[in-house]
Amino acid sequence: MILVQDQLMEQSKLHIEMEDRGYQFGDGIYEVIRIYDGQFFGMDEHLVRLQRSANEIQMQLPFSLEVLKERLMELAVANSIKDGQVYLQITRGVAERTHHFPDHASGILVAYTKEAPRPLNKMKEGISVITTEDIRWLRCDIKSLNLLGNVLSKQKAKEAGCDEAILIRDGIVTEGSSSNVFIIKNGELFTHPANNYILNGITRNVLLELAKQSAINVKEKTFTRDDLMNADEVIITSTTMEVSPVVTIDGKQVGDGQPGPVTKKLQEKFNQRIQQNQSVEN
Ligand code: PMP
Repeated sequence: MILVQDQLMEQSKLHIEMEDRGYQFGDGIYEVIRIYDGQFFGMDEHLVRLQRSANEIQMQLPFSLEVLKERLMELAVANSIKDGQVYLQITRGVAERTHHFPDHASGILVAYTKEAPRPLNKMKEGISVITTEDIRWLRCDIKSLNLLGNVLSKQKAKEAGCDEAILIRDGIVTEGSSSNVFIIKNGELFTHPANNYILNGITRNVLLELAKQSAINVKEKTFTRDDLMNADEVIITSTTMEVSPVVTIDGKQVGDGQPGPVTKKLQEKFNQRIQQNQSVEN
């Protein structure tokens, strides 16, 4: 089953118009929300960010967030999702192709679920990344369907045999192509401030909170590629990658090439948070 507007239906019934603005312009927004053991993780935070993205592109949501939340829960149940995710997107709707907003079009929402196991091996062993220039636009805070800059960067990482591309704008590390980036130096945790140069990740905020609870000094301050290359530990976070240690960057080892102690502690806390989520929602 999939969700189209506020109705659950068979996927085979989905019809996409040629002149859907999402299809022609990438004129829309999206979210990916994790499901652990049948329970959504951070649903409210994702919906708040969805509303913010809609506001920033002056788009009306087709119906309320309360209804959306209910329907997403029904969808996950209908598809018996245990460990997985829901992808949802809202486009500005169908109208004759002109760049400016159409006078009469209403947003179109589509959502689907899939099973997706936790990235436990990567979290344990760590991942390899490349660095590359951040070629994206200047509103990376909006979770827009326009992802070409991210797509091209991730492809570069794949061609280098790596899992992620860390993006550098004017010498500053912004974020990953689909993740946020943290470094640990002398016990302090640094990450790019949540402004227009990055997406304010839901997992990023969970990690910052867990770090504060663990009495780790948190600095939402920019850092350079040199700082990244000389960090004691490097972490990337996302809904899909969770809290993954980075063990090589552009072929160079981070620290001793193994996930470090601060990373492991934060991962442990993150796992506890997932467990709590289950007991709270049940
Ligand atoms: N930055 C970018 C560019 C992303 O695509 C993602 C994944 N949605 C993130 C950061 C991480 O965000 P979240 O933790 O909300 O998944």
